[in-house]
Amino acid sequence: MELQDQNKKGDKDLFEELCSAIGREFVFDNIEERERYSFNGVNGESMPDVVITPHSTEQVSKILSIVNRHNIPICTRGAGAILSGGALPIESYIVLDLKNMNRIVELNARDLTVTVEPGVCIKNLQDEVAKSRLFYTSEPGILDSTTIGGIVSKCTGGMTGLKYGVTRDYVLALEIVLPDGSVINAGRKTLKSVAGYDLARFFVGSEETLGVLTKITLKLLPMPEKACTIVTLFKDIDSALKTTDSILVHNHLSLRSLEFADKTCIDAVSDFSEMEIPAEAEALLVIDVDGNEKNVAKDISRIDTLCKENGALKTSIAHTDEDRNILLDIGKLISPSLSKITSMRLNEELSVPRSKVGGVLKNVYELSKAYSLQVAVFGQIGEGHINLNVICKNGETVEVSARNLVSQILKDVVSIGGTAKTVLQPHEVEMMKGLKKMFDPKGIMNPGRLFGNSSAHRKDAKYAKEI
Ligand SMILES: Cc1cc2nc3c(=O)[nH]c(=O)nc-3n(C[C@H](O)[C@H](O)[C@H](O)COP(=O)(O)OP(=O)(O)OC[C@H]3O[C@@H](n4cnc5c(N)ncnc54)[C@H](O)[C@@H]3O)c2cc1C
Repeated sequence: MELQDQNKKGDKDLFEELCSAIGREFVFDNIEERERYSFNGVNGESMPDVVITPHSTEQVSKILSIVNRHNIPICTRGAGAILSGGALPIESYIVLDLKNMNRIVELNARDLTVTVEPGVCIKNLQDEVAKSRLFYTSEPGILDSTTIGGIVSKCTGGMTGLKYGVTRDYVLALEIVLPDGSVINAGRKTLKSVAGYDLARFFVGSEETLGVLTKITLKLLPMPEKACTIVTLFKDIDSALKTTDSILVHNHLSLRSLEFADKTCIDAVSDFSEMEIPAEAEALLVIDVDGNEKNVAKDISRIDTLCKENGALKTSIAHTDEDRNILLDIGKLISPSLSKITSMRLNEELSVPRSKVGGVLKNVYELSKAYSLQVAVFGQIGEGHINLNVICKNGETVEVSARNLVSQILKDVVSIGGTAKTVLQPHEVEMMKGLKKMFDPKGIMNPGRLFGNSSAHRKDAKYAKEI
């Protein structure tokens, strides 16, 4: 009883301290607000005790120094679109929502750089830089509700990675609030930086386990003159993979992306897509090309021929932005459409040498038959990226089989030189834990993420019983 009273007093002190640091109107502990933060892009549920919506680096710094002093775990959120659970407060009392930090601070068209606050959404950034005929390339499948803070923290790939690489390749400099509230600048706004370790990129992909990103300087590219998209459907997966091989061996084609989806994904997406999809289609490719107008026309015609030579059931080509969006939406809609057919799916993102994609897929489908499990596979196979989803609608036994299937695939992937998020060697984990400890000795930043538990637990959380 005494302990409970003590906890309540501690909670009240912390709440009051946070309110006086940034203003009561930006600190929420009502159930409706907390519930909105208890889920994310794909799965899981975990409710925070308090949600804070700061407006500036200074406020973020004050919040971190308070929670650090109280030893309270915290989790930062962009738009909550992450597929692997990172923005969920699994062990955190507090969610820091950066939606109010959404200014484009400086666009420098001559230097090809832009500095933004983390809450800027990708679509807004792309629209803004397009006015200067510039292009920010990193494009996850969900543009209008994904923030720069989220994609840098996750180092997302996306729809353009085959040609342009991942988010890391475009981060030049960062302003970061460290767990003790101190503010550091890492990296330079110049395209080439030669001094010391590349600290800025060390934070890219760290999923908020080291600090909160409060300003981000990105490299821009000139807008390509022309882009064109082809969607093509096949009656079997082998024909789609043969087409992929023949397209990829033509290294001179100016491919921007080459995405694959199987029958389960096609069926899930067909209700939402504006493109008519033949019922017998078992595999689909979305192929995007950009560059100089003349070359794009030539490349599209070559790809169209390759698709037909490999027995495509149907091919649609889009030349205008409006028509391209209809075709590109097919790829973007797969993940949300799958969420509609089942809330229970085991998801694993695999990365393999692209020449090995066919072998891995063959293994996935053989195992799915052996375990009598339905799988949904899609991904940017041009980059060797496979998004594997095992549907587990029917409870615990299915989940055990699904985990067995995934672990067999992971073994296969590692044996052929591939990787996945869950595949880290023990010495790598130890080294990473050491680095984390250096930045965040109390383990308050997004605990439970990347390396499991921290010492700052939420078992005595204010609302623990409701969670
Ligand atoms: C339909 C759909 C399609 C997708 N397609 C792709 C795809 O093609 N490729 C791909 O790679 N991903 C894809 N994703 C995943 C998603 O776009 C990324 O994970 C993205 O990072 C989420 O951004 P967000 O703003 O929603 O971040 P959140 O989900 O809110 O957060 C992501 C992570 O970043 C941390 N974080 C957020 N802001 C900050 C900050 N300022 N400082 C420190 N840490 C921070 C969070 O704690 C969390 O760990 C897709 C998701 C969906 C739902």
